[in-house]
Amino acid sequence: MKIHWQILVALGLGVKRHWHIIFALIAGVVMGLIVQTLDNKEVWINILGFVGQAFIRLIQMVVIPLVASAIIVGIASLGDSKQLGKIGMKMVLYYTLITIMAVVIGSTLALSINPGKNIQKFISHQQAVEVQQQVQVMQDDRSNLGQIYLNMIPNASSLAKGELAPILLFVIVFALALATIGEINRPVVSFFESIFAATMKITDWIMWAATPGVFALTAYSVAISGIKVLFDTRFYILTVIVGLLIQLFIVYPLILRIFSKVNFKSLYRAIAEAMMVAFGTASSSATLPVTIACCERRAGISSKICSFVLPLGATMHMDGTALFQTIAVITLCQAYGVPLDIFSVIQICILAAIASCAAAGIPSGGWISMILILSGLGLSLDQVGQGFTFLFAIDRIVDMFRTVPNVTSDAVVASVIASNEGELDYDLLGNQEVWKEVV
Ligand code: ASP
Repeated sequence: MKIHWQILVALGLGVKRHWHIIFALIAGVVMGLIVQTLDNKEVWINILGFVGQAFIRLIQMVVIPLVASAIIVGIASLGDSKQLGKIGMKMVLYYTLITIMAVVIGSTLALSINPGKNIQKFISHQQAVEVQQQVQVMQDDRSNLGQIYLNMIPNASSLAKGELAPILLFVIVFALALATIGEINRPVVSFFESIFAATMKITDWIMWAATPGVFALTAYSVAISGIKVLFDTRFYILTVIVGLLIQLFIVYPLILRIFSKVNFKSLYRAIAEAMMVAFGTASSSATLPVTIACCERRAGISSKICSFVLPLGATMHMDGTALFQTIAVITLCQAYGVPLDIFSVIQICILAAIASCAAAGIPSGGWISMILILSGLGLSLDQVGQGFTFLFAIDRIVDMFRTVPNVTSDAVVASVIASNEGELDYDLLGNQEVWKEVV
């Protein structure tokens, strides 16, 4: 299929699968404009604000169990056998490299384009001052850098206080320990597998509320600030898309070139359906069966490598998400007039790298784990609620774009590892004539 047809199909698929969200977005804009003209608009704004906040609170509810169980299940399964351990190490190395590139690109673009500038005027002065002071406290604390790292080490009160960074650190150490103790870890890993499945289900249920949630959040934003709010996020959307394109067309081809002999155009052709489904569903997990089929039946990657690398990648590695999270948090800081020093930027990058691993491969999964980064800056969701609302209203569009590199990079890493291990059938990859259908 010609590339322009593929793009059209992807767009069509996207609109079809997301029609309800797109409808909610448009209906929200209309509702917001109507509310602006009403005499009792305060009452309506309160109702819309209530529904929108309820949706955000629901998202917050699943953060800790979802993130913790995803990390434990992902890491614990790395240590299953010696060989898988070796492949696992390579996988971690490539994924880390790609994620570092993503956060560096994301932060550089966000700092140079300054997408938060346009949103600044919608943030109330009082809230901006509160947020600036809060971040200042964190930055001043750096005079005592040791204390910050000490605070990262969990203690008994971390869980009670819901401090995410120390909890996450404990979860990673715990998962590494589980991975090294062999078969005896089965009951605990199965336990967390069940928790993961259940919290994924809860997230699915919460996402049913995404339509009224997006409707209410959009209508609330428009009613308060006017329709301009949607146009004013255009620089933010553009910054993310430019970053994702750099990842797709510069970073991955370079990785493939340096570490393997795989031609990126052949690989992209082989996984084109997976990329389209990723765009259409905004979910790496939902795309996984198509990704596996493309990689095995067309890209020539052995099923051994596919079945190990791709599922873990779909749950634990999301560089498109890391890139978006870096840009979104920097945009929020710019919108609130928070001056960011180099340490804060590095901190945002590191936290985004961690938070993207913790994101579930579902629509808005990255949005949920982004709360980790905010809390690392000493901010709560309530404090940046106004800015958060703006960005969330248009998040589905951004989500569709960022899910494409999330899925593509899994195939890139799988093909590099397969080529290193002699598990890649170059004849199949290079011979489109014999490719089988996948969707
Ligand atoms: N939707 C993304 C994915 O499934 C995750 C995200 O929200 O960033 O890969």
